[in-house]
Amino acid sequence: MDARAIIAKLRDGDRPGPEDLAWFAQGLASGAVTDAQAGAFAMAVVLNGLGEAGRVALTMAMRDSGDVMAWDLDAPVVDKHSTGGIGDCVSLMLAPMLAAEGVYVPMISGRGLGHTGGTLDKLEAIPGLSVEHDEDAFRAIVGNVGCAIVAASADLAPADRRLYAVRDVTATVESVDLITASILSKKLAAGLEVLILDVKVGSGAFMTDLAEARALARALVDTANGAGCKTRALITDMDQPLASAAGNGVEVAEIMGALTGSHVSARLTDLSVELAAEILATCGKVENVEAGAKRLRAGLRSGAAAEKFAAMVTAMGGPTDFVERWPEYLPEAPVIGDVTAPEAGFITAIDGQALGRSVVHLGGGRLRGGDPVDPAVGLSALVRLGQSIGRGEPLALVHAASNETAQAAARAVRAAITIGAAPGDLPPLIHERVV
Ligand code: URA
Repeated sequence: MDARAIIAKLRDGDRPGPEDLAWFAQGLASGAVTDAQAGAFAMAVVLNGLGEAGRVALTMAMRDSGDVMAWDLDAPVVDKHSTGGIGDCVSLMLAPMLAAEGVYVPMISGRGLGHTGGTLDKLEAIPGLSVEHDEDAFRAIVGNVGCAIVAASADLAPADRRLYAVRDVTATVESVDLITASILSKKLAAGLEVLILDVKVGSGAFMTDLAEARALARALVDTANGAGCKTRALITDMDQPLASAAGNGVEVAEIMGALTGSHVSARLTDLSVELAAEILATCGKVENVEAGAKRLRAGLRSGAAAEKFAAMVTAMGGPTDFVERWPEYLPEAPVIGDVTAPEAGFITAIDGQALGRSVVHLGGGRLRGGDPVDPAVGLSALVRLGQSIGRGEPLALVHAASNETAQAAARAVRAAITIGAAPGDLPPLIHERVV
C-alpha cells in the first residue's frame, strides 16, 4: 500500500477500504505519510467524501492509531465536544461544573482550527499551566480533581494530532467525515462512557446551515453510539459568538466571570448548563435534564464549580490562587481600543467566520502550522444580535499587539457586523436535540 494510491482513489471518486484507511492512519501516526500527502488526502475527502462506511472506518483507524484508555473509577467517565465556533469557551466551564457533581471528565481538546478558537490555546493563557501531560499524569489529575483538559498525548489518537494541524492550515476543515473522525478518534481513545456533542450551526460555525449540521450530528451520534459510547448531540446557535469575547486570555476572563459570578454571560452559562445536564441525565446521575440543570446552577452559585476549576489549574501547573487573582495573571495586550458603530440602529447580523479570522490575524490563531499564538489579543465586549446601538457607540473592544493590527481588526469587525433599522428575529440558543 502507499499514500499516493489511496489519495488517487479518493481523487477519482472511489472509496478506499478499511485497510487503506487503517494504513493511512498508521502512516500519519508513524510519520510515513508526509504533510503534503496528509493535505492532499484531506482535500480529496472534503471534495469527494468517504461515505458512511469509510467515515466509520477512518474514525476507528484514527482511534486505534495510538493507545485506547480504560478507566477504573467510582463514577461515570464523561465528556463533551464542540464542532467549533467563536467565543465558545464552554469546555473550560463545563468540565469543572461536572467534576463538582462527582463525575469524571478526562477532556482531550484541540488547538485553534481554521477561524475557530481552541480550548488548549485558551488554557495556555494562564501562566505556568501546561496542557501537555503524559498518560499517567493525566490519569492522576482526573482521579484527584475530577477533571483535566489536556492535549492528546503522543500516544492518544496521534493520527488526529497530525491531520488536525494540517487541516488547520489547508482549508480542509469543513467535512462531515473529517470532523467526525477527528472528534471521535480522540473521544473514543479517551475511554468515555458518555459523550455530549455540541454541533454548531451558523455564520461562525463550520456548518452554516441546519441541514448540514443535522447530517454532522447524525454522523457523530451514530458513529459514537456504534462504538459503544452513549452519545447525544445538541445543535446550537453560532450566528453570533457564544460569549461576548473571542480570543484566548479574553475568553478565560469570560469564564472566570461566569464561574465566580462577577460577570455572567447568560448564553455561555445557559449552554454550559444544558450540555452538562444532558450528560448527568444520560449517565443516570439525575432523573432528567431539568433536574441536572438545577443541580449545576446550584454548583455555580455555591462556588463548587469555581473550586474545581482552581484545583484543575493548580494540578496542571498554573497558579495556586488563580481564581482569587485571575485579573492580575491574565496577559494584557499593549493596544486596547473601541471599534465604534458607523451608524445607529440594531445589530441584525454578525459574520462569525470573519470575526474569527480577525482574531487569527491579530495573532490569536495560526496562519501557518506551528505558529505561536498571542494569548493577550482578541475581541471583547462584543455586541449581541438584536441589540440597539447608537452611532459612535462601541461594537467591540479590540486587544492587539500593535496599532496596525488593531486598525485592521477594527475594519474587519465593522465589516462583519450589520446594523439595520429593526432588530429582526433572534435565533434560538438550542435548535435541536439529536439522540
Ligand atoms: N473539533 C475537532 O476536534 N476536530 C474537528 O475537525 C472539528 C472540531
